[in-house]
This record gives sequence, C-alpha cells and structure tokens, in this order.
Amino acid sequence: MLRESIDHPVIIGAGPVGLVLALSLQQLGLPVTVLEAQERGAMYGDGRALALSYGTRLELEKLGVWALLEPDVTPIETIHISQQKGFGRTLLHAREQAIPALGYVVSYGALMRALDQCLDERPEGIAVRYGLPVGGLTVDAGSAEISMAMLAEIHTLCSPLAIVADGGRSLDAIPGLVRETKHYGHDALVGLVKAEQPHRYIAYERFTPKGPMALLPNGDQFSLVWTGEQAYIDQINALDDAAFLQALHQAFGDRVGRFLHIGKRGRFPLKLSKLTQTFPAHCVVIGNAAQTMHPVAGQGFNVGIRDAVALAKSIRETPSSAWGVASMLDHYRQSRAQDTGRGLLFTDFLVNVFSNDLIGVGLLRGAGLGLLGVLPGARRFLINKMSYGR
Ligand SMILES: Cc1cc2nc3c(=O)[nH]c(=O)nc-3n(C[C@H](O)[C@H](O)[C@H](O)COP(=O)(O)OP(=O)(O)OC[C@H]3O[C@@H](n4cnc5c(N)ncnc54)[C@H](O)[C@@H]3O)c2cc1C
Repeated sequence: MLRESIDHPVIIGAGPVGLVLALSLQQLGLPVTVLEAQERGAMYGDGRALALSYGTRLELEKLGVWALLEPDVTPIETIHISQQKGFGRTLLHAREQAIPALGYVVSYGALMRALDQCLDERPEGIAVRYGLPVGGLTVDAGSAEISMAMLAEIHTLCSPLAIVADGGRSLDAIPGLVRETKHYGHDALVGLVKAEQPHRYIAYERFTPKGPMALLPNGDQFSLVWTGEQAYIDQINALDDAAFLQALHQAFGDRVGRFLHIGKRGRFPLKLSKLTQTFPAHCVVIGNAAQTMHPVAGQGFNVGIRDAVALAKSIRETPSSAWGVASMLDHYRQSRAQDTGRGLLFTDFLVNVFSNDLIGVGLLRGAGLGLLGVLPGARRFLINKMSYGR
C-alpha cells in the first residue's frame, strides 16, 4: 500500500464543476490536485446541450475560459414558454434585462474541451491525475484519506480537504454523508434536430402532460431535450427517424415548421438528489454530487459553478491549518443553502405543476403562463432565475 500526504485540497472529479474550482483556486494562488476516473478528453464527444446562464458567462470570463468557449456557444435572446393543449404562453427577452443574452447553449463536450485548453495554457499549481477512479473516502479528526487502486496496489492520498465533485455517481458510501433521492421515473432523450425554420436565437420550453421538452438554439440547429416517463421515452426512442420527427412535430407544434433531421440520440435518467444534514469533517461536496436537478430549467451546472466559486473563496479566506474544520464547512454550506434549495424547489415545482394530466391543473398552468406574461414581479423572478440563477 502506497501512502502520500499533501498539504493542499484534492478535488475528486475533473468534470466541469471540479475544473472550474481548480481554476478558481489557481487564480487565488492556491495549489490543488484533481483526481479523474476517466482519461483526458473522454467526454469531448458528449453532445448534451447545456444552457449556461448569463451569470455563468461572467464567472467563466473571470477565469479566462469564456474566450476559449465563445466560438462554440449560441446565445439565447428570447425564451418562449408554452404548454401543449393550452393557450397560455409567455416570452422573456434579454432586452428586458438590458443584457446581450439570457443565456448561452453549448455542448458538454465543448465546455470540457475549453476547460482543458485553459489548463494547458495555465497549468501552474494544478496537478490533474487522469484514469484514477477514487474507490473510497474516509475522514478522521485531522484529514481526509482518499483511496484508489493503482497497478493492483491501493494508493492512499491524505489531504486536509477532499472535495467531492464526482457528479454523485460513484462515492455514495462516504461515512457521515446521507443523500436523499427522488427518482422521477423519467428519462431525458437528447439530440440535435434540424427544422424547416431557423431558430432566431429563441429557446423553446414546452410543457406537455408527458413531461417538459426544450428546443435550444445550437449552431444552425436545435438541441432537443425531450423528457417523459421511461416507458414513453422507450416508445419514442424505438421510432425510426421519420416517425420520430413526426411525433416531435405533434408534441412541439408548428412554431419552427416540420422537423427535417435528427442526429445521434442520447438518453439520461432524471432524478432529484440532495444531501441531508449529516456531514463529515475535511470533506465537502459540490456540483451534481451535492444536488442533482431535473434539467427542465437548465439550472444544474449553473448552480454547480456557483458552488465552486463560493468554495474557492471560502478556502482562500480560511488559514490552511483550519481547512476542513467544522466551522469552515458550516459557513460554506450556509452560504450555499438558499441558492441550492431554491434551484431544487424551482425545478421540482416546474416538473410537478407543468407536467401532469390532473383535471384543473391544465387550466391553472394556462392561466399561470398567461399571468407570467403580464405580472412584472413574476416576469422579473423568471428572467433573473434563467439569466443569473438568482
Ligand atoms: C439531459 C441533461 C441536460 C442538462 N442540461 C443542463 C442545462 O441546460 N444547464 C445546466 O446548467 N445543467 C444542465 N444539466 C446538468 C449538468 O450536466 C450538470 O449539472 C453538470 O454536468 C454537473 O457537473 P459536475 O462536474 O458536478 O458533474 P459531472 O459532469 O457528472 O462530472 C463528474 C466528473 O467526475 C468524474 N468521476 C466520477 N466518479 C469518479 C471517481 N470515483 N473518481 C474520480 N473521478 C470520478 C467523472 O468521470 C466526471 O468527469 C443537464 C443534465 C442532463 C442529464
């Protein structure tokens, strides 16, 4: 067994949130080690579209990532919200907020490429070790012990602060950490689609009794996110391309004309997951590992980046001898509780209220969408949530 002690934070997971944290720490002059299960570049082909808020753009600009990402992003100037079998609809415009765009669409793969490129240009103080799946994490009064298998040997890394940014997929069994999960029983089907008409930088969010769907402007095409119960997604996914495009037209309506082409389809199970009150010392959890949301309102990464920025600040403001002690971790968690809680509530509310067939709820949500269009308070809330996440 190999044992190594380091005196700085270790991030588990070089996904977008882990890398934003690494770059934020670097900017504050703090060294960091990042452990990543996959090989570098493994996710460059992930075409899942992420809607980045305007607030996220500002954070990526500060880190020097935005300039590298900009050629791959498509701005969202208008958000069009509607419901199937209902008259209510609302339009949100960037100009109401006096900002150039409400958000930006980019593929997960392009985001990862830009972050890696930024690391190549500015590697100082950041050590990323690829192909190292962390298998266990334990903590004691003084440090965190991170273990991984390397060439048939167990390698243990001791650090004053282990930051779990693994997307919530692998490190469930950390002693002292309890997760609450609500499985929606829904999947998201994603893919690039071409329509008869151009997108004109409009993102469409449509609520159907089967589940929400979104068409996001992406290059000269749309990124489709079509969610629904797993059996329903099984059905539409089994259709050949022509029948699939017809079903999409039926569910989405005629706003952009007929659909002409669908690229490679991807599929993701959807859940809401959050951590409850029990936390170990010397360990902090951020990004999707701390909170997983339904993608209905494009909040997940946007909340995760705010975790990363807040944690970097907290580490910077804490003397290294106190990294990972209860008071530091409590302070960080409290600073993030409201934003995270609202993100979870907002997305869960949208899924529950706007995506079911209960009698009366359809009428209410029609009225709700109509009201959103005219009530300044409700409009402002929605625009702020979509553009800044606040
Ligand atoms: C269909 C869909 C659409 C979405 N749309 C949006 C959107 O429009 N806007 C938005 O903001 N968010 C969106 N999201 C959410 C967004 O994808 C996540 O919030 C974001 O990817 C979280 O980043 P992360 O770095 O926390 O986790 P991840 O992206 O999951 O990255 C985790 C990293 O940790 C690594 N890892 C895992 N286990 C280990 C281990 N044991 N040891 C070492 N490394 C490990 C993984 O290989 C990976 O690189 C969407 C999600 C889905 C599924």
